[in-house]
Amino acid sequence: MRDFAYLRPREAGEAVALHARHSPGARYFAGGTTLFDLMKLGVESPATVIDVTRLEGLAGIDASRRGELRIGALAPMSDVAEHATVQREFPALSEALWKAASQQLRNMATVGGNLLQRTRCAYFRGAGEYACNKRVPGSGCAALDGLNRGHAVLGASEACVAVYPGDMAVALAAFDAVVDTLSPRGERAVPVRELHRAPGSTPHLETVLAEDELIVRIRVPRGPIGRASTYHKVRDRESYAFALASAAVAVQLQGNRVADARIALGGVATRPWRADEAERSLVGRPLTRAAARRAAELAFAEARPLAHNGFKVALGIETVTDALMIAKDRS
Ligand code: SF4
Repeated sequence: MRDFAYLRPREAGEAVALHARHSPGARYFAGGTTLFDLMKLGVESPATVIDVTRLEGLAGIDASRRGELRIGALAPMSDVAEHATVQREFPALSEALWKAASQQLRNMATVGGNLLQRTRCAYFRGAGEYACNKRVPGSGCAALDGLNRGHAVLGASEACVAVYPGDMAVALAAFDAVVDTLSPRGERAVPVRELHRAPGSTPHLETVLAEDELIVRIRVPRGPIGRASTYHKVRDRESYAFALASAAVAVQLQGNRVADARIALGGVATRPWRADEAERSLVGRPLTRAAARRAAELAFAEARPLAHNGFKVALGIETVTDALMIAKDRS
């Protein structure tokens, strides 16, 4: 690991001002569960690390507002997973957090940092000996003709087929959550489903955020759609593993017909993936297992498997179908 300067501001405004003063080469640091790994691997080598863990007022969870739940960006994942309002009104969000990482990591990692975690593609995290457009733009993609069992079947490009690895962002995308950010140019709100970029020809650009933009909170709209929801995650082992396929699903029924449906996919796409057409196919109809399966097949209609990950299409269809039935049972 290379030497770096370490700064620890107390307020968000001070943090973004420090970033501006020390750019390029400055990085925000919160729980450190991703950044320090990447620094040890040589993937990231910031000249200045700005520790935002002591920023005032960004670690709380505010459930006092009728219209939205507000989660400070520095709230630990475990606090959000255990919060009574989250468990009652957004079970998919609580489950996505419970099923992510280990208890130690959930205690340490913040929700803001979790949104920005980087891919687990082994070529990206290797010692720099592999072609990787995300790590070195223009160098190629070793995964295209290499081992790509864990890679994306949706949203990939010729430049990159890496999966977005997170769970929480998938649930937040399903709930139309928004992140509030702060930068030297002021505040802005970014819908979670627009936060992560498709790789296209620039896979090194992973989000729409500028380098100096700091996530300060997450806002989740409150309403009946959240309560009948689930995060269904399939992985190689039941603990401390990334998704091979996952689905954050919510349904709202009127009588026996679907009034609203949300389906977001994880583990199969280059970014948290909303399946809009699949959602529309359910609205106005009874939620039978056959209807759920048709929607799940629609969600994967555009899938483009690679040499080793074709199983993700069938697995993803089963995952979405099962998730819809679990959500129905909770409605
Ligand atoms: Fe790099 Fe993306 Fe290819 Fe992995 S899939 S080697 S991250 S360019």
